[in-house]
Amino acid sequence: MPELPEVETIARGLAARVTGDVVESVWLGQKKEPLKSPASDITTTLESSRIVAVRRMGKHIIFDLETNGVTPAPAKSRALHKKPQGSARRSNPSSPSMKQIAGAGACPARSQWIVHLGMTGRLQVCEPQAEVEKHTHAILRLSSGRELRFVDPRRFGRLSVAQAADFDAGGVEPLEVDLDRFLTLFRGRKTPIKSALLNQKLLRGVGNIYADESLFRAGIRPRRRASTTTREQLTRLFHAVKEVLKEAIALGGSSISDYVGAEGEEGFFQLQHRVYGREGEPCPLCKIGIKRVVIAGRSSHYCPRCQK
Ligand SMILES: [Zn+2]
Repeated sequence: MPELPEVETIARGLAARVTGDVVESVWLGQKKEPLKSPASDITTTLESSRIVAVRRMGKHIIFDLETNGVTPAPAKSRALHKKPQGSARRSNPSSPSMKQIAGAGACPARSQWIVHLGMTGRLQVCEPQAEVEKHTHAILRLSSGRELRFVDPRRFGRLSVAQAADFDAGGVEPLEVDLDRFLTLFRGRKTPIKSALLNQKLLRGVGNIYADESLFRAGIRPRRRASTTTREQLTRLFHAVKEVLKEAIALGGSSISDYVGAEGEEGFFQLQHRVYGREGEPCPLCKIGIKRVVIAGRSSHYCPRCQK
């Protein structure tokens, strides 16, 4: 499952490839699960929109869209609601004449396409002749001639749109939050600090691996109640969370190729884990065995000596 650093890497890779491109037409598959917004809303919002930015918010990928005085394409191009048939689809490209330029001075309408990759979701930027993979749920044809495809075998990923660019993922951004705000997130919470770190309503985008690694660096046991952590410990945690995420982003950022993948394949999770997944192995600081406990159904790894 992609965590914040992977999603950040993917968003940066996409931004470099599709910023400035215009969505000419959209094909959506028949499966209902990936569509969080109605299919017609997604199609109407995306078609004829220019991608002005791609960025990460929590674990969501946000495509900021602008419809700059371009009227939406007529219904004809939206009727392509079946699986494309390879050559037949290629021989019938959407005609540029379907777009009409509205009068000068039209106000750009802003909206957003929001992609959550779930467990196995991937966004591919490819040439139209590239074979359409099984489990492809959306294809955006771009004015550059390329296609942006959403592939997701397990279908936990979600596609939605927001008008007026008002999507809010909830929680605060761990890389942007300041110390004072960070401290208030944990105040009075009787849950284990690990659960609080994973609570997406508090911090958005911190997942299991990076929570364990951050707690190790901060010297805090995962089961420790959030409300009993000291200001000093939380200050260390504040820095540790940012440090771990930034290191992982720096490592992931160099691994993206033309194929934008997100299945935890090579290139991701390159960060050298100090405790995560290392039960029984020696702690890198004190050499005693790393322990594993289950907290709220999630494996948690820690050093019983270095973490209090
Ligand atoms: Zn240790």
